[in-house]
Amino acid sequence: MKTVDLVIPVFNEEEVIELFHAKLAAELKTLPYVFTIWYINDGSKDDTAKKLKIISHEDERVRVLELSRNFGHQAALTAGLDRANADYVISLDADGQHPPEMIGEMLELAGNGYDIVLTERMDTQSTSTFKRWTSSTFYRLINHIGSTQITPGAADFRLLTRQVVEALRSMPEYHRFLRGMVAWVGFRSVILPYTPPPRMAGYSKYSLAKMLRLSMDAIFSFSLVPLYIGISLGMLMLFLALVEMIYVISFWVTGNISNLAPGWSSLMFIILIVGGFLMISIGLIGVYIGYIFQEVKGRPVYLVREPADEPEKINAAD
Ligand code: UDP
Ligand code: MG
Repeated sequence: MKTVDLVIPVFNEEEVIELFHAKLAAELKTLPYVFTIWYINDGSKDDTAKKLKIISHEDERVRVLELSRNFGHQAALTAGLDRANADYVISLDADGQHPPEMIGEMLELAGNGYDIVLTERMDTQSTSTFKRWTSSTFYRLINHIGSTQITPGAADFRLLTRQVVEALRSMPEYHRFLRGMVAWVGFRSVILPYTPPPRMAGYSKYSLAKMLRLSMDAIFSFSLVPLYIGISLGMLMLFLALVEMIYVISFWVTGNISNLAPGWSSLMFIILIVGGFLMISIGLIGVYIGYIFQEVKGRPVYLVREPADEPEKINAAD
C-alpha cells in the first residue's frame, strides 16, 4: 500500500481542531492508503497545543510538531514538507476550508501519473468581495510581471509526490511563496477546482498584515520588474534632460537668450521630480538588498521546539 503524509499547519485553532480531525479521520477511513497526519503547531497561544496532544494520544497516525513561535503559514508548511517522507504529501488547512473529501480524488490523479495535483479556489458569494478583489488583482500582477505563471486562486491545498517534495527541499530560500515555488519546479501537474466551504469554526488567522507580507514575498522573490522600474525612470530622466538641453540651445542659436527667464519654479519642479524618482529607485534597490541580506544570513525558516532532538536547520543550505 502507498503511504501518504498530510501536512496541516495550525495557528490558534482551538475552536476547530477537534471537529476538523474528526471529519478528516472519517474521510480517511474509506481510503486504501497508509496515512500519517502531521499537525504543525505554528506557535499557537490558545489551547491548540493541549488539544493536539489529546488527538495524538487517541489517533496513532497523528504526529505533532511544535514550532517555537509563530513563524507563519508558509514556514509551518515548510516544516511539515521537510519531515514528510511518504510516497505522496498533501498539504491542507486545519479549518475545513480545504475539503478533506477531495483527498481521494487527488490520490487517484496521482496514481494516474501526475506529480502535482493543484487545487483552484472557485470564489462564491460567501467569499468576501475584498478577498476576491485582492486575490484576483494579486494574481494578475504577479503573472504579468513575474516569469513563473501561477494559477489564479491557487490554494496551499495540493498533493506532491516525494520527488517534488525533494525538489522543494533543494530551495532553501527564506522568503517563501510555496505556490510560486511549486509552479517554478515544473513536473506534470493537474488542477482540481473546488468551492471553499465556510470555516468550520473560529475566525481567519490570515490578518491583513500577513496577507500583505505574503504578497510582498511573492512579488520580490518571483520578479525583478520592480528593479527595472527604477532603471526605466532613470532613463526617462536622462531623456528629459536631453530635451531640456536642446530647448536651451535653441535659445542660444536663435539669439533669444535674454528671453530665457531665470525660472525658479521650474527648477524646483525638476529637482523635486528627480529627487522623488531617485528615492523610489533607491527604495526598490533597498528591498532587494534587504532580501539578499536575509538570504545570505542563512537563517532557518523555522525552529522546532518539540521533539527536542530534531536537527535544527534541516532546511538551511550547507
Ligand atoms: N496558519 C498558520 N500560521 C499563521 C496563520 C495561519 O499556521 O500564521 C494556518 C491556520 O491555522 C489555517 C491555515 O494556516 O490552518 C490557513 O489560515 P486561515 O484559514 O486563517 O486563512 P484564510 O482561509 O482565512 O485565508
Ligand atoms: Mg481558512
